[in-house]
Amino acid sequence: MKGRNKGFKKTELTEKVIQKFSYRCPYCDQPVSYDEFDLKVGENKIQCLSCKKIYIKIVAAPFTGGRHKSRPGKAGTPR
Ligand SMILES: [Zn+2]
Repeated sequence: MKGRNKGFKKTELTEKVIQKFSYRCPYCDQPVSYDEFDLKVGENKIQCLSCKKIYIKIVAAPFTGGRHKSRPGKAGTPR
């Protein structure tokens, strides 16, 4: 095991499913470039280029600040 100093105190969940937009591989903690993957809303299978392991990345619908429906951009969101 590696010592992780900057770990999260509250959540001890160490699932292989990432629910936030993390750019790190959960296995080897290497930065992963998601540019090469066709990320879509929902589950995405990501294979780490460093350790070749596959994990599931969940992408939440963009531009929803806590709402369930994704509506096309209202004013306020750039892009
Ligand atoms: Zn990895």
